[in-house]
Amino acid sequence: MKIICEKHFTAAEYFSKELGEYVCNKCLVESQGLTAIDEQTKKYMCDFDEIRKNTMESILKNRKNVNTMLEWKDSIRHELMVVKEEFSKAIDQYTDKFVESLREIDQSSELALFQGEDKRQSMQLLEMEKKFESVE
Ligand SMILES: [Zn+2]
Repeated sequence: MKIICEKHFTAAEYFSKELGEYVCNKCLVESQGLTAIDEQTKKYMCDFDEIRKNTMESILKNRKNVNTMLEWKDSIRHELMVVKEEFSKAIDQYTDKFVESLREIDQSSELALFQGEDKRQSMQLLEMEKKFESVE
């Protein structure tokens, strides 16, 4: 004896406690809101799975390279900092030397002779003008 689904007129292979009646596969699919997966979707899912696997594989393969790049980046940064340090030191030393050399010039006796030179020359010029006026 075969129990037939009253709704679908197909073989009812299950008894639903919830519905209190015999149901077929179609009833189950309907009650769960299920949608059958078509061939195209299956192909997409297979492709997607393939892509996912390839991605995972390449990530694992490239992990070593990423680490190498990180090491490079760190060592380049370190070298740059060393160069910067050396450069700053050289500029500081040069600045010190320059300031020191200016101090020597300020304190030299040769420069002392020229102190007030502008004033002296303008006074001489004034005196010459006065003498010229008196001669006229
Ligand atoms: Zn049914």
